[in-house]
Formats: sequence, structure tokens, C-alpha cells
Amino acid sequence: MPELPDLEVIKDNLTPRTVGRAVRGVESRFPAFLKTADPPLSQLEGKELVGISRRGKYLQFYFEENLSLVIHLMRWGWIWHGKSTYPPTRATAFRLSLDDGNDVRVIEPGPQKLARGWVLAAGDEGPLAGLGLEPLSEAFSLEKFAELISGRRRQLKKILTDQKLIAGIGNAYADEILFSARLSPIRYAHTLKAQEIERLWEAIPKTLRWAIGEIKKRVGDALFEQEVRDFLWVHGRAGKPCRVCGTQIEEILIGGQRTDYCPRCQNVDRSV
Ligand SMILES: [Zn+2]
Repeated sequence: MPELPDLEVIKDNLTPRTVGRAVRGVESRFPAFLKTADPPLSQLEGKELVGISRRGKYLQFYFEENLSLVIHLMRWGWIWHGKSTYPPTRATAFRLSLDDGNDVRVIEPGPQKLARGWVLAAGDEGPLAGLGLEPLSEAFSLEKFAELISGRRRQLKKILTDQKLIAGIGNAYADEILFSARLSPIRYAHTLKAQEIERLWEAIPKTLRWAIGEIKKRVGDALFEQEVRDFLWVHGRAGKPCRVCGTQIEEILIGGQRTDYCPRCQNVDRSV
């Protein structure tokens, strides 16, 4: 599933290819894709795309007249950019055709069709309402973060992936952040000392920014069809030696989520 770093790079690389172009056609091809009926999708036709932003794990495309289109790629979706004349495949959930002869498409292979889109009028937040703090924003201060997690009787892995608390972090980057902070994923937030809270707070934007840089190093200005994650320290590396201490990376399930960590570097205390 694309997370904040992946979506940042997609946004950055898609922007110069698309912004400033007008919409020539727009089509939702999977019945469940579009979650809104008003404003209608057709209202985007003829409008210029004026910008793209990311909020949490959502991409937001802004058009003239304060209309916007919000997309969530969910588990299997990805963004394709290419010639409008290229026939859509059975995996094409959505297409936005621009006046330079190119399409932005949401591609979702596999039987599960989970990607979703919303057309929003000015002031309408749609699915973005209620999202938590944006970890790369200035609003993500130590005070705010400490207030958010202090005293919570929840495991750190669950807190980091709760979109209502902090937006944009998923399964993979929660593991990487906890490795960077040298904290166990099964620790409960209420057991953290002030200095550990600060370490975790620092690790969040640091890890996300590092990942954005690593992805950009690998893909340049291209769009990518698969998550680029070969540089991760723990996630997806269960059974392999930790690159810091050589201990075998362990895997556990937390709330059904595959969680990878180094039992030595992250000092797992199973009694808490
Ligand atoms: Zn280690």
C-alpha cells in the first residue's frame, strides 16, 4: 500500500506532467470507485488542473472553480500517466484525460477493487475531514505529539498507523520509524518516558523524509508501478540479519498487521 513517502514522490513527479492542462474527459470505470454524486464527475470537464497535493494517504487534484478530486489508492492501486490513445485495460478504475493527449489513470489489478475517488466542491473536505496531524508540517510539534500520545493505553504500532492521530503512515513506515526511534512496536504509549516520546517524535519526519529521498534516488522523475522499498531497515526483512547489530529481524502480527522489528535494537520488553 502506498504510504506518505510514495505518494509524495508520485505527487512531485506527476505535477509537472499534468498541472496547467485542461480536462478533456473523465471516466469512472469501476462502479464502486466514485464515492460522490454531487458535484457530478462531468463538472470537471473543460476545467484546468491547477495543482496536486497530498494529505495523509490521499492525493488531491485541484481544478478551476475550486473543484477538487480526491483519490485514495488503497491497497493495490497505482497511478499511471501516458497516452490517452492507449486502450484502458480491465484494471483501469478511473481515467482523467487531459488536453495534451495524456491520461492520468488509477490502475487496480487483482480481484479486490478498493481504490476510491471523491469530487469535492469548495469547502467540502470529504474523506479528509478528521484526518490527524500531517507529520511533515510545522503543526507537528513535540508539544502536539506528546499531547496526542501521552497516557494512551495503545501499542505504538497501532498509534502510528491510526490516521485520525497522524496521517500518512502505514504498516511499513511505522516499522521503520520505530526502528529509527529504537522503540518496540509492542510498547504501550503510556509507558514512554519524556525522552522516548521525543525520540519517537524526531524519528517520524526524519524517517519519512529519508524515505522520500531514497525513493527519488531510485526512480528519478518517473512514476512507478510498485513500491520501492529495498532500502528499508526492518520492514519486509523478517529472518534477515539486522543491518546494525546482526540480530535476526523478527516478525509478529499486531492487529493483523505484519510487523517487523529488531529485538535487540528495539529493546523489546514483553512484560509491557
Ligand atoms: Zn538490530
